[in-house]
Amino acid sequence: MDLGISGKRALVCASSKGLGLGCARALADAGVDLVMNARTADVLEASAQSVRDDFGVSVQTVAVDVTTANGQAQLLDVAGDVDILVNNAGGPPPGVWSDWDRDDFIAALDANMLTPIALMKALLPVMIDKGWGRVVNITSQSVKAPIAALGLSNSARAGLPGYVAGTARQVAPMGVVVNNLLPGVHDTDRIKALNQSISQARGITVEEARTEREAEIPAGRFGTADEFGATCAFLCSQHAGFIIGQNILLDGGAMNATL
Ligand code: NAP
Repeated sequence: MDLGISGKRALVCASSKGLGLGCARALADAGVDLVMNARTADVLEASAQSVRDDFGVSVQTVAVDVTTANGQAQLLDVAGDVDILVNNAGGPPPGVWSDWDRDDFIAALDANMLTPIALMKALLPVMIDKGWGRVVNITSQSVKAPIAALGLSNSARAGLPGYVAGTARQVAPMGVVVNNLLPGVHDTDRIKALNQSISQARGITVEEARTEREAEIPAGRFGTADEFGATCAFLCSQHAGFIIGQNILLDGGAMNATL
């Protein structure tokens, strides 16, 4: 399918690895020029070069922490008048409900709620002026169904869908489409780290931890960054203009719910 976005420009935050990189690669495959971001400059540049080599699009890199005001300012300076924004950042650390104090919650809110809101506030006016834009926020399945070990994520991410629900409907008349993508378990470095902590906490091997988790997913496996990226690229396409303010769960059927 031709996604109809060849020649557009996208800012993809936190995109040197994992789900962000999957989104960057799928957009590049559709002919979109990119601004890619992560904190670790050499890893970011290597990923950017692989995207240039594989898809022939232009890729600029900005090695900053997207959750800081200074990082956001540098990103926005390079991004300029992008057509597409993919919001992403690292997820909060695991723990139990009694572990976290105010500073932990503020850091999680900064990363997973206030950063995407700040970037939308900065870039939605540019898209509105052009009469076309796409925003995809990478959040988590924890927005729909809490994950016991990720109480910070459960809490901090809950506010973003509320902001998007109202905002998406206000900017839709101007041709701007905003949606959230909710990953279930995908095979990335973050999940490898979480499997490692499960294995240590329970005295089982990492492979056993993985097998147990895969068995809980009706699809029988973890998702891939490529298929996650393909869904993101579709939501950024010309075909997605009637999908407004939705929370799209990509979890292999793990959440047992009718709606
Ligand atoms: P990942 O494989 O660990 O990749 C994270 C990427 O984000 C890396 O490129 C990392 O590069 C970059 N990054 C992290 N913090 C950043 C920051 N403050 N500023 C700029 N870049 C930053 O993680 P992932 O699995 O793709 O997860 C992406 C998001 O989806 C996370 O918020 C995660 O909690 C959420 N999620 C993932 C899953 C899953 O199954 N994978 C499920 C639910 C939710 P640097 O470290 O160099 O900055």
